[in-house]
Amino acid sequence: ASWFSDVEVAAAIEVFALTQSYNEDQHPQKVNLGVGAYRTDEGKPWVLPVVRTVESQMASDQTLNHEYLPVAGSPDFRTASTRLLLGEQSPAILGSRCDSVQAVGGTGALRIGMDFLRSRLGFETIYVSSPTWGKSTSVITVITFMSAGNHKNIAKALGYNIKEYRYWDAAARKFDVDGMIEDLRNAPEKSVVILHMCAHNPTGIDPSHDEWKMLAQVIREKGIFPFFDCAYQGFSSGILEKDPWAIRYFISEGFEVFGAQSFSKNFGLYNERVGNLVFVTKDPESVLKVRSQMMMVVRTTWSNSPAHGCRVVATVLNNPALFAEWKENVKTMADRILLMRQQLHDKLRALGVPGNWDHIVRQTGMFSYTGLNPRQVAHLVKEYHIYLLKSGRINMCALTMKNIDYVANAIQDAVT
Ligand code: PLP
Repeated sequence: ASWFSDVEVAAAIEVFALTQSYNEDQHPQKVNLGVGAYRTDEGKPWVLPVVRTVESQMASDQTLNHEYLPVAGSPDFRTASTRLLLGEQSPAILGSRCDSVQAVGGTGALRIGMDFLRSRLGFETIYVSSPTWGKSTSVITVITFMSAGNHKNIAKALGYNIKEYRYWDAAARKFDVDGMIEDLRNAPEKSVVILHMCAHNPTGIDPSHDEWKMLAQVIREKGIFPFFDCAYQGFSSGILEKDPWAIRYFISEGFEVFGAQSFSKNFGLYNERVGNLVFVTKDPESVLKVRSQMMMVVRTTWSNSPAHGCRVVATVLNNPALFAEWKENVKTMADRILLMRQQLHDKLRALGVPGNWDHIVRQTGMFSYTGLNPRQVAHLVKEYHIYLLKSGRINMCALTMKNIDYVANAIQDAVT
């Protein structure tokens, strides 16, 4: 007998399963709207020009080596990325009340942050938005398991009691601020709330400034710990300084916060796993204590972070000319996404597709929650070879000037 014969096949990760089906499809007009990465108007991955520049410099730099980094990660990288998130004039930076630990992507930052809160401070409950990043589908039964999702899966592995707060009002296709406040108002003691700083995945809908203020109030009243997931800085407005408004607001209001940064999207460094967990405390004395414990969490999780990607990021963030170039690269990506939003919206309107499609231009970031239902999604996949998540989420930059008419016409057919 084998130890492994009773192991159940795990549910496939929907976004990866979808890409596999797309790759196997031979249809000439196939489109993959499911991917979670930036694509150019030619439908190709994009290595940012500033990244190419730095990588070619690095290739000939004989001073670089492959020694381990410090357990907390590269100091140059940590300092620069913390400054990028919080802003140079942040009261937390000026008051020496923050620091960070390098992480294996945004996922790693979420993982070590949640681990720390659970294992060192005894937090028991974690709130995630409904819906949140990542759902999975079983390839065997083709049933979507609504309960799965990466925030939840990480929390589950750490033994948290997982709760959802209402976020997406499906009928009105907007943010359900009242629902979220009511749900957080019922939070038990020792609760953490995961907040998407900007460009919410998958809905593309963020709270307004006034709504963030209302959320901060209930989070304060209930003593909930705010943990920001910052995976898309620059992708919401195209402006790096504007997108972190929410986390900066919380800090200005005196909150202690965590911020899980990812450089996968805004640097296009998906497979280099560049992340950073920023922590802001009330007093400078706590910083050292938290960092030392966080290093223990890192040591037992991946021990030491990868260096290549963080070198690229640190070089860019610490050099004014390269930084200016990167800002332009980010804007190029954000602008193309905005253009595709506008185009899809206008084309659906021009075709007279039933329904109100204004949410497509109201949403921000890489994704749009189209409101297409599972039957319509299945129709697009089967009849048009257009692949998208069952939830109706599409990646806006998977649209191009070449395929957008095809997609708009297909949506018209699926809806009518
Ligand atoms: N958080 C959200 C909301 C995401 O969408 C993603 C990636 O898709 C991540 C975190 C994780 O990013 P990374 O690939 O850097 O682990």
